[in-house]
Amino acid sequence: MSLHTRTRAIVVGAGIGGLATAVALRRVGVEVEVFERASELRPAGFGISVVSNAVAALRVLGIDLGLEARGQTIAHTEIMTGQGGPCGRCRSSPRATGSAHRAWPCTGATSTRPCWRAWAR
Ligand SMILES: Cc1cc2nc3c(=O)[nH]c(=O)nc-3n(C[C@H](O)[C@H](O)[C@H](O)COP(=O)(O)OP(=O)(O)OC[C@H]3O[C@@H](n4cnc5c(N)ncnc54)[C@H](O)[C@@H]3O)c2cc1C
Repeated sequence: MSLHTRTRAIVVGAGIGGLATAVALRRVGVEVEVFERASELRPAGFGISVVSNAVAALRVLGIDLGLEARGQTIAHTEIMTGQGGPCGRCRSSPRATGSAHRAWPCTGATSTRPCWRAWAR
C-alpha cells in the first residue's frame, strides 16, 4: 500500500477561469478533470478587456490570448454613474506588471480557444 496519495480536483466550467485554474493545478501536480456543459465552443459576440494582472497571470500559465498582436492598450478607464456623471478613473501602467490593460475585440470562443489549447497540451 502506498502512503502517497495523489491530489485530484474537478473543475466545473471550461471558460477562461476554469481552464486557467485547471492548467495551474496541473502544473503543481494535481490530477484535474474538467467538466463543461456546452457541447461546443460558440462565439458569444462580444469583446474582452483583459486587465494587466490577468495578462501577466495567463502568460505565466503559457496562455497567449494574442493580445500583443490584436489587442489595443487602454491608457485609462473611466467609470460613470447611471446618470452619465464621472464616478472613478484609473490609469493603466505597464510598469506595474510588465503588461498594460488591453482590450481585444473578439468573440467569446476566440478568447476561450487559447485556454483550450493550453489545457490540451
Ligand atoms: C457581455 C459581457 C462582457 C464581458 N466583458 C468582460 C471583459 O471585457 N473583461 C473581463 O474580464 N470580463 C468580462 N466579462 C465577464 C466575463 O464573462 C468573465 O470575466 C469571464 O468569462 C469569466 O470566466 P469564467 O470562466 O469564470 O466564466 P464563463 O466564461 O462564464 O465560463 C463558465 C463556463 O462554465 C460552464 N458551466 C456553467 N455551469 C456549468 C455546470 N453546471 N456544468 C458544467 N459546465 C457549466 C458554462 O457553460 C461556461 O462555459 C463579460 C461578461 C459579459 C456577459
